[in-house]
Amino acid sequence: MLKMSTESRNASALRRHALNGPAMGSRWSAVFFAADDFDAAALARSFQSAVDRIEQQMSSWRADSDLAHLNAAPIGAWVSIPHELVTVLAVALKIGRLSEGAFDIGVGDLVRAFGFGSGARTPDAGLIARVAGRPSFEPPKTLQLDIASRRARRLALLQLDLSGIAKGFGVDELAREAQRSGLTSWLVGIDGEMRAEGLKPGGRPWAVAHEKPIPGSREILGVLDLSGAAVATSGAYRHVAEVEGRRVSHTIDPRRGRPLESDLAAVTVLAETCTAADAWATALMVAGAERGLELASRLGLAALLVRSDGSVLSTLPTPPRRPVGPAPRARVSSRGTLCGRSPRRGC
Ligand code: ADP
Ligand code: MG
Repeated sequence: MLKMSTESRNASALRRHALNGPAMGSRWSAVFFAADDFDAAALARSFQSAVDRIEQQMSSWRADSDLAHLNAAPIGAWVSIPHELVTVLAVALKIGRLSEGAFDIGVGDLVRAFGFGSGARTPDAGLIARVAGRPSFEPPKTLQLDIASRRARRLALLQLDLSGIAKGFGVDELAREAQRSGLTSWLVGIDGEMRAEGLKPGGRPWAVAHEKPIPGSREILGVLDLSGAAVATSGAYRHVAEVEGRRVSHTIDPRRGRPLESDLAAVTVLAETCTAADAWATALMVAGAERGLELASRLGLAALLVRSDGSVLSTLPTPPRRPVGPAPRARVSSRGTLCGRSPRRGC
């Protein structure tokens, strides 16, 4: 009792701060509770320079990014890269391996050919024909990392694309800045990929709305209580282009070398880091309902899979095991509906 009343007295001295800025073609945001005299402007600058640094390293859209330099280097030549980029490449390769190739950062040419990358926004038939027979991405045959010396080299004519993981890593960098500034209660995110720590004054976890994966819909599937965890969603409904009169997803099915035609509308993954949540959301989306569920339960991933017909499949609330980390604190009903403040029955 004493502890609770002390907490609420401290809590009342805290003020809610909200910051945001441009990030990776979208926006970063941060909400946190801190004392009135907390230097929020200084933290906003740290947040901005963290996301700018990651974008400068990992963007597929900037001709001068470190990733672009690696993609432009002669085959076989080692290229020095910053340590964050080495880290992300290493995590991407690991998730690529664990997902049996569903997560594949060697899809850059295909992303561009189908009109999703930088440059042309329409499918390029000539490029599609050329990259259809691209070598499959089989590190270390196609990409080698020298983690200790912070360098990488391509061994095949493949364009690397980190857009399926870089945003999540950017969120983890925001989290690191929040931690470094001494904050204990915060929610940070980039374009819907979020990570939260601590509880709000009053003892409630941070609440994140989970949208229904229906194009143009603002309806929510539920509200996710988030604390000490990250969440990311990959959905076929968010970015689409038209190819031969059909709407196609910006996610590539690496096995077929074409845009993904999935039986899933969206996948949401909870993990300790947003890097893992982001990459696994893409990976499970590519894997599809059956293989995705099997992978998630085998690897102990906390994932919510939504089929194209709107039915919800889930491996939650299985507590995640390695490699994802300790169980994220979020609740989902036994029927797979996200709980918290969801108005749905069954929660
Ligand atoms: P969003 O940008 O909506 O958050 P994702 O995190 O699912 O979406 O990332 C999609 C991006 O990942 C694509 O635009 C593309 O650049 C890249 N990508 C596409 N297919 C794959 C894949 N199979 N594995 C890894 N990255 C992919
Ligand atoms: Mg992703």
